[in-house]
Amino acid sequence: MANEPQDTNNGDKRPTSGPPRIGTGIGALVLVIILVTVFLPGIGKLLSGSPEEISYDTFKQQIVDDNMLSVTVEGDKITGVFKSALSGSDGSKDFLTYLPSFGDPDLLASLTKSGVTILTRPANQISLFTILINVLPFVLIGWFLYTMYRRTRQQGDSIFSVGQNKAKLYRKTKEGVTFSDVAGIAGVKKELHEIVDFLKTPERFRRLGAKVPKGVLLVGPPGTGKTLLARALAGEANVPFYSISGSDFMEMFVGVGASRVRSLFRDAKAHSPSIIFIDELDSIGRHRGAGLGGGHDEREQTLNQLLSELDGFEQNDNTIVLAATNRPDILDPALLRPGRFDRRVTVDRPTLKDRAEILKVHAKNKPFQADVEFEKVAQGTPGFSGADLENLLNEAALLAVRKERSVITMADVDEARDKILLGIERTNFAMTEDEKKIVAYHEAGHTLVAVNLPSADPIHKVTIIPRDASMGVTQMMPDHDQHLYSKNYVLDRITVMLGGRAAEDAFIGDITSGAESDLREATRLARKMVLDWGMSLRLHNLSLGDERQDVFLGADISRRREYSERTAQQVDEEIKSILDKAYEKAAAILKDKSAALKRIAEALVEKEELGSKEIMDLVGTIA
Ligand code: ADP
Ligand code: MG
Ligand code: ZN
Repeated sequence: MANEPQDTNNGDKRPTSGPPRIGTGIGALVLVIILVTVFLPGIGKLLSGSPEEISYDTFKQQIVDDNMLSVTVEGDKITGVFKSALSGSDGSKDFLTYLPSFGDPDLLASLTKSGVTILTRPANQISLFTILINVLPFVLIGWFLYTMYRRTRQQGDSIFSVGQNKAKLYRKTKEGVTFSDVAGIAGVKKELHEIVDFLKTPERFRRLGAKVPKGVLLVGPPGTGKTLLARALAGEANVPFYSISGSDFMEMFVGVGASRVRSLFRDAKAHSPSIIFIDELDSIGRHRGAGLGGGHDEREQTLNQLLSELDGFEQNDNTIVLAATNRPDILDPALLRPGRFDRRVTVDRPTLKDRAEILKVHAKNKPFQADVEFEKVAQGTPGFSGADLENLLNEAALLAVRKERSVITMADVDEARDKILLGIERTNFAMTEDEKKIVAYHEAGHTLVAVNLPSADPIHKVTIIPRDASMGVTQMMPDHDQHLYSKNYVLDRITVMLGGRAAEDAFIGDITSGAESDLREATRLARKMVLDWGMSLRLHNLSLGDERQDVFLGADISRRREYSERTAQQVDEEIKSILDKAYEKAAAILKDKSAALKRIAEALVEKEELGSKEIMDLVGTIA
């Protein structure tokens, strides 16, 4: 299904399809060889005509009758050739008989007497050929079975292993990651430490009658280190650690997922104390009966099995189930019930301090110039996840390599951040002088409005260098992480966004399509103010939004509007009123400070990029 939400950050995925089946031809060849070898002796006999076996009596009589040409004695076995074929035989002159076990002392005498050629050979003479004939079939069969076995093992998904536990088993010695590799998120680490403690000394907890949670759910946005934490736990806990991704339970056949769950829990319990880690839990744990496309029998069965396994823990099963997801909102409520994943640990985007620490962890094996301050980099990267920060340093290193430097400088880090946030510079993108001027005024408009509004974020940099996503950018950078947005802050933000369009209108005398994304974002914010935050005048303190509007979240297909037509009209009016007022305010500021706007725009046309200090200089002199 195309609508599966998938976090691609999953490092433990195993290839599900095996290597191409080149072995089939070899297998058939082996079979032919085996058949030929097994039947070769028989075939040989058929071709050469086997000697006729006769009784010892007849043999003696033929000596007496002088019908014997030659005799070969080989231990007990006597073969030979008659002068003429016996009557009643098929015409063959060859014969075979055996010496009686009690022996025949007269045999030699009677043979010599009749003048027969006598050949003797030692008994049990084994030729290389005999060995080959006898042993080769077994060797070949053994080899054939072994290759079959190995191939099915490699394919992993062959019919023999369907329904088997596919979890990877980690041992401490193998997994190099420890808690020290996970920077920040101290609260989460403490929580996981408790789990390690419990597995080491369960009595300590039981003495006080405390039950340690059987299921711990790590919840957080992608790239915040959930999988990393689990791997670190595997390294620290020193117990068998079964790691599996939710999607590994899924197979073509119905019922396979459920049986995989069963076998995983059976294995883990057999090796208790142990930890089971299910990454991307949302791919099996999704709200039952939700979404488009009818029933998902397979997923539901798998989920039901998981639920009953979670319930099936005995008090003395020292097995803890850890799971991770970035979509807690779509999990089936039954999973979150006490006794199952009852403990929920939130792994949030890193704070300023945590970002600096994460940067330092990932900077360890990279040469940085002494002037690189990770605290400063952390300040410039609000909202970045751990994975983003890792990527940032990697991009910086790549840039340094491109410039053939041996250390990474602060400029590299800055450039890498711009590349990530704003897109790659489009070097061969030619703007006409007119366009350049329009973009310069547009960006100068954003900048000047921002500088003149008390609640707006400080300007970090303004550029009219065209990039992937835009022709120009005004970059604002909050000086601290923000968790709450005040009405004034949001209003100022909308005003800054409309400042670009206002500047175009006032100083170019026309408006352009360049304001598209500004308008979209401003409208989105205004809508949120009215519907979700109760920040409009007429509809204040009312929540009219329905957060569960997404079909894939398990709600209805269309967004259910829970207010009347009249309110809907008011909503529209309020949104428009917010946007209109913000636009007027922006236009007023620009009119008031038109000299400063002109200075900024001209400086932009000339230099294409202005830092925060240059801007403050341009704004500061005359109003
Ligand atoms: P998630 O599973 O939450 O989506 P991952 O655990 O896969 O995220 O994180 C991706 C990568 O980001 C990790 O391999 C690690 O290099 C980096 N990372 C994320 N969070 C941290 C952190 N707190 N400390 C160090 N590295 C981190
Ligand atoms: Mg992950
Ligand atoms: Zn703009």
